[in-house]
Amino acid sequence: MSDISNFEFKKKFGQNFLKDNNVLNNIVEKSDIEDDTLVIEIGVGAGYLTKYIASKAKYVVGFEIDESLKAIIYNNLKDFNNVEIVYEDFLKANVTEILKKYDYKHVYVIANLPYYITTPIIEKIIELNIAERLVIMVQKEVGDRFNAKMGTKDYNSLTLYLNYYFKISKVMDVSRNSFIPKPNVDSAVIRFDRYYRNDAKSENRLFTLIRDSFQFKRKNLRNNLKNYNLERIENTLKKYGKDLTVRAENISLEEFIDISNNLEG
Ligand code: SAM
Repeated sequence: MSDISNFEFKKKFGQNFLKDNNVLNNIVEKSDIEDDTLVIEIGVGAGYLTKYIASKAKYVVGFEIDESLKAIIYNNLKDFNNVEIVYEDFLKANVTEILKKYDYKHVYVIANLPYYITTPIIEKIIELNIAERLVIMVQKEVGDRFNAKMGTKDYNSLTLYLNYYFKISKVMDVSRNSFIPKPNVDSAVIRFDRYYRNDAKSENRLFTLIRDSFQFKRKNLRNNLKNYNLERIENTLKKYGKDLTVRAENISLEEFIDISNNLEG
């Protein structure tokens, strides 16, 4: 069985396959895959996106949790000798170990993600610290949150976390009609290009500060950061014309970095 006409889609795995060739082609074109790139694909599905990636990349290592897709994937990808499919839960897989046998210059992640685990997947990719670029399909509203502007309701600790590591841009919106089965939400393809920065003296302290600052969304910094050295924080905020009555949603990433750096010593 190489086509999906008899396949029973599993909602619990977020199985909505992308069958629009224009969109598939566009995702890969906009990924600007360079020579010597190993692409990690999370959630191979029937292998439709994998085919497009494999025709450009040096290697594709695809992860798929659902072993009942094996025959379909095999048939769709049998002409490619640069593809390995790992039938494991990506969140549990030892990715570093799996990549050891390959010789490559760049690692990108290109994927139509299973939406129920979008954030844990991105967190794992950041922790692995190997991917220079991510081009991923996500739920449209989630994509808007990644790039939310300061002061808007979508601006939160995840926005800051992601914008610290990546330059984020939207590649395109994708209608729900491009998928089988048709999901209840629209999607967007978002591209993340890794920054290699060293402006935070301690990333740990920065992200703890950000998480604590957003702990209670309606509260201001004075109330959310009771256990911190508030005098130091106020001194830094003054530079930006702000004080401790400000809420986290009105503090930029650069300001958080400055506050965090000044907490040291
Ligand atoms: N890439 C395919 C496409 O574009 O048509 C399929 C995308 S579909 C939205 C997500 C895929 O991720 C499904 O095939 C699903 O079985 C798989 N998946 C779900 N959870 C996973 C996990 N934890 N690890 C690896 N794959 C997973």
